[in-house]
Amino acid sequence: MMTVLQISPALLQEMIIYVDGNAPLEACGLLAGKAARVEKMIGVLNQAQSEVRFVMDPYEQLRAFDWIEAQGLELLGIFHSHPAGPPTVSPTDIAEAAYEVVHVILSRCASQWQARGFWIENGVAREVTLELAK
Ligand SMILES: [Zn+2]
Repeated sequence: MMTVLQISPALLQEMIIYVDGNAPLEACGLLAGKAARVEKMIGVLNQAQSEVRFVMDPYEQLRAFDWIEAQGLELLGIFHSHPAGPPTVSPTDIAEAAYEVVHVILSRCASQWQARGFWIENGVAREVTLELAK
């Protein structure tokens, strides 16, 4: 499991702009990089178009996986937003976690976005430190 994920402040800001632009709908995407350091975020269409859940569009997701592989990067994380909170993974998020990667939740409270990371394994979510490093 991963306990720390490094992300640059600029990349975090890019994620926040993306999810804020999709709010009040939940937005989702992938985080790619190397050695626990995120180098790229890729937004993926939320097929559910819902304010309370997300389903990654399978075609866009597959295309993003191909791109990540072609760049020689690894899938490090999956992010999605909770525009109306809470700042943690939901029971549905835990039940539907299909990849052993860091699950990043961007939640909004009083128009401020915050990001938290979680590692989900065997139905248990553990916090992953998001290290803001340039
Ligand atoms: Zn969620």
